Amino acid sequence: MDLVIVGSVAFDAIETPFGKTDKIVGGAGTYISYAASFFAEKSGLVSVVGGDFPQETISELESRGVDTAGLQIKKDEKSFFWKGKYHNDMNSRDTLVTELNVLGDFEPILPEAYKTAPFLMLGNLAPAVQLSVIEQFDKRPKLIAMDTMNFWMDSALEELKEVISKVDVITINDEEARQLTGEYSLVKAAKKVLEMGPKYIVIKKGENGALLFDRNNEVFFAPALPLEEVFDPTGAGDSFAGGFMGHISATNDVSFNGLKRAVIMGSATASFCVEKFGVERLQNITEKEFDERVSAFVNLTQFDITLDE
Ligand code: AMP
Repeated sequence: MDLVIVGSVAFDAIETPFGKTDKIVGGAGTYISYAASFFAEKSGLVSVVGGDFPQETISELESRGVDTAGLQIKKDEKSFFWKGKYHNDMNSRDTLVTELNVLGDFEPILPEAYKTAPFLMLGNLAPAVQLSVIEQFDKRPKLIAMDTMNFWMDSALEELKEVISKVDVITINDEEARQLTGEYSLVKAAKKVLEMGPKYIVIKKGENGALLFDRNNEVFFAPALPLEEVFDPTGAGDSFAGGFMGHISATNDVSFNGLKRAVIMGSATASFCVEKFGVERLQNITEKEFDERVSAFVNLTQFDITLDE
């Protein structure tokens, strides 16, 4: 097993200025798994669903090299459900409903084969669950990354801080970085989060790209690709995380330069995700499309300049 993925596997109902959906397949773990499967040879998903979750999605993930031995199915219970509504600018949204259902008392059980995996992506879930997964490893993974959201800052801050102290990389959005640290400046917020434990922080800024900071004041910026249409931003952060960790697990490169490339791969993956509702677009990316998009990132940021001596 190369990469272990933890995160919600869920139903979402989404409303954007362009349309709305009834319950569709979503969840942080789902988006991460689809995104990572584009890069990672062997990944394993740790989560829980109810008997209402479609078996065809589980089978499809399996067909993409995502092992689901760590995905518990509670036949008589309901899957996690989240409902969100985007504002006109698509950069901000309101959570209208969060029904934890099976996630409420979820106790993750790591299959034996996962316990020595070199890479761990802790997607958005209760910090206690994230912590339990870290503790079940026989050997600490080479790189642990985590994602989280304001919901857990409001409801489980102390446990969340404990998880943060144990990971190498944290990915978080700009508003959440400000909430966590009380700093408006993202540079100051990044410094404060790095003092809490991680070696690296990625601050996601929606359509304004992502910033990668390390403890030596190195900063890298990846823009978001200017897309003609952003249809549904749900899962963009998770797709970023999946592409980011999928790429790292495939290259085994945890240097700052390796992480920079992973940020671009994560950004490219996220740029596909937002083109359709749910995971639909992630299911249909071709190698050629992906390569073209990475080239577009290179072109977007490359320029020549000669400075006077
Ligand atoms: P993102 O747009 O990347 O922030 O992720 C959206 C996904 O996060 C949706 O598919 C939701 O099912 C999932 N989600 C929303 N709230 C929570 C929560 N409290 N815990 C776990 N997953 C959540």
